Amino acid sequence: MGTRIRILALVLLAAMLLGALPVAAAEGGPVLLLQAGGSRAAWNGRVLDAPPSRYAANGALLVPVRTVAEVLGGSVAWEGATKSAVVSLNGHAARFTRGSWTCWVDGRAATLSTPADTVDNVLYIPLTALELLGLSTASCGYYEGAYLAVSAAPLSQEALAQAMAQAPALLGPNAGLLDRRALVLRTGSRWAVRGGREEALCGLDGGSHPYAADSGLAMVPLAFSVEALGGTYTVQADGSVLAAMGTRRAAFSAGSVIVDGQALDHPYVRVEAREGTLFASLYAVTTALGVYGYAGSDGGLVLSPWPLDAALEARGLARASQLRTVEDETVKGYIALTFDDGPSGAYTTRLLDGLKARGVHATFFLCNYRIQAYPQLLSRYGAEGHEVANHSATHATLTACSPAALAAEMDNTNRTIEAATGLRPTLLRPPGGAYNQTVLDALEARGMCCVLWSVDPQDWRLRNREKIREAVLSTVGDGDIVLLHDMSNASVDAALDIIDTLQARGYRFVTVSELAALRGVPLAAGGVYRGF
Ligand code: ZN
Repeated sequence: MGTRIRILALVLLAAMLLGALPVAAAEGGPVLLLQAGGSRAAWNGRVLDAPPSRYAANGALLVPVRTVAEVLGGSVAWEGATKSAVVSLNGHAARFTRGSWTCWVDGRAATLSTPADTVDNVLYIPLTALELLGLSTASCGYYEGAYLAVSAAPLSQEALAQAMAQAPALLGPNAGLLDRRALVLRTGSRWAVRGGREEALCGLDGGSHPYAADSGLAMVPLAFSVEALGGTYTVQADGSVLAAMGTRRAAFSAGSVIVDGQALDHPYVRVEAREGTLFASLYAVTTALGVYGYAGSDGGLVLSPWPLDAALEARGLARASQLRTVEDETVKGYIALTFDDGPSGAYTTRLLDGLKARGVHATFFLCNYRIQAYPQLLSRYGAEGHEVANHSATHATLTACSPAALAAEMDNTNRTIEAATGLRPTLLRPPGGAYNQTVLDALEARGMCCVLWSVDPQDWRLRNREKIREAVLSTVGDGDIVLLHDMSNASVDAALDIIDTLQARGYRFVTVSELAALRGVPLAAGGVYRGF
């Protein structure tokens, strides 16, 4: 589940530390809350009966004008002859005619987002028409359940956030989808969900998508995020970005965020330029602009102008998880390299160094008698992300073993590995690939499976770097398990060459168990696997 960024507390903390953040909430007056499809309204924290707000066919929100006028101290008179409502509200006089796209405010014509309408004997006008009467409006949510806010005073970001946070308790839950102004992102993904729609931030080659900074901070594209959240921005000649959300103003430039003339000074505040785009940490954006941010464990990010309840947060982060990462989009395939008959002293050490330098994880099928020769190597495999597996104790042909010998071949190696690493192997590769039902039954009894291979360059026979390399590259592809032996410099050099070539072609290297998991294949006890 996501880590909630409790931004209100952070803003208060920042305000205490800096002593200078704007306290814009003070200017907000009482807010009238309405709900699409809801039969209640709330004014100043008090719940009233009200006709439901509605959507016009073109998607514009309609509000019951009589309820709004009465709550805010105005009045509505109906003129049957002209099918018009005469509204006196907030010091303005307005006339709305049913079915007309034009209204008159203080004697001037104005165009509406949708005509006034009557439903069930209730007169409706567009929510946005209230702004012609000097009122502030906002909406939060989609479809049935969306909350609407109306205020005589300008709605500051803080006042709006506060009102919307109270709405579920006063009016009932918002059953709608994520707010249309919520922005869903994911680090490492070039896709974003804005206004409910998925769009690309950049091409596959472009680097201007959210990313995790070295420090682990989630970095989001600043201008794009501000605009998606309903704020405004201007890019200065020096590349810095002036951003505004409601009454908040902040100047972002590489390395600093200035709010009200004061630099935000916090380890989580970070601004960087990348590929010509300014990126800010989630914390910097939420703190400077008074918006709300939520981060999931898999890089998912949700930004919202107001707080999301737990259900909406979960829905937003779940949506973020569906955004494909650039890695998802560009990877050609996954390959498991396996190395048998080790540990093999200096060869293994060179191989492990090379794998580490390339960020590659492999699978090592070890023999107990080899572990006894090089016990110090055993701790490196697991610590460096490799999978340790069983290749019998003495490299015996398992199909020729007595039941007692077969058990010893499996158990001695498992025991040594478990004692040294704390992990019991679940994979066994029989020497020479020789197995029969007796071997599989013995594996099943131990919760283990039999792993063979799909690519065998016979490196132990070729003993030539180029020939081994070509033998693998001429056939290898997605899902293959490659059999190698870290028993010669030729094999080790070839393995590293193969990795360099295939990584450049878009392949990734994973352990055998990871490859099975990637393909959704549960490894069954007693099963035989050659590739995935
Ligand atoms: Zn072997």
